[in-house]
Amino acid sequence: MTSLAGKTAIVTGASSGIGEATARRLARAGAAVMLVARRSDRLERLATEIGDGASYVALDLAQAGAPQSLLDTACERFGQVDILVNNAGILRTSHFDAFDLAELEPLIALNFAAVVRSSILFARHMKAHGSGQIVNLSSIGASITAAGTGVYGGLKAALERFTEVLRIELAGSGVRVGLVAPGTTTTEIFAEMKSKGEPGWDEFIPSMVPDDIARAILFMCEQTGNANAARLHVYATSEGF
Ligand code: NDP
Repeated sequence: MTSLAGKTAIVTGASSGIGEATARRLARAGAAVMLVARRSDRLERLATEIGDGASYVALDLAQAGAPQSLLDTACERFGQVDILVNNAGILRTSHFDAFDLAELEPLIALNFAAVVRSSILFARHMKAHGSGQIVNLSSIGASITAAGTGVYGGLKAALERFTEVLRIELAGSGVRVGLVAPGTTTTEIFAEMKSKGEPGWDEFIPSMVPDDIARAILFMCEQTGNANAARLHVYATSEGF
């Protein structure tokens, strides 16, 4: 399948989980992918495995200057960026009485500020070219009110509002903006919980695998004509909320 032949795509958080699966899917659909995360050894391995013009850039997206640096690197390599998947993220959950306040700034920096900065910078670039696709990874946690999820879910809810407004502001520009909200998917995102002796959420139900979400992201990127699949919620079949 080569629905994205000739397109260029950036996937953040491509060193594991949903980002890695998405990079494979987009590449298989014909896109030249640029992989982004901090662990360069993993990115290098994946880029080599994908071949077909895949490249990578190691960046800590929690740094304020990283999105601009990403845009500059992408413009040097690609000229024009067609697809940006803002996927990199971390999960921290705790009741207020146990929440480690040192985690607050890193969460805001990566899960919200980096996505907002990248979305704005790449939206300007894409608008100037009259086309493009931005996909922001939310979570079903944005729509669920549950103890322990206030900060993570709250930031994803804020990201959803930002993403929806960006879509509206870009209406008629040729740039599509959408959000994909995954349900429970087994990835390394639960490793931090498990390292503290807590059960990962993926241990409670039969969860999804990263490629389940990657297929939804690809579907969003494959829209043509006047269609924009702007909100995709992907639940595990046994999720009961
Ligand atoms: P993983 O932990 O498997 O992957 C997270 C990715 O983000 C890694 O590639 C990691 O790479 C990258 N990353 C983390 N910190 C930084 C940083 N400072 N700078 C650059 N990259 C960074 O998680 P998932 O695949 O599960 O998560 C992907 C997205 O999906 C997230 O936004 C998450 O919130 C969302 N999501 C996941 C769900 C799930 O159940 N798994 C459910 C709902 C939403 P590296 O460490 O090499 O930098």
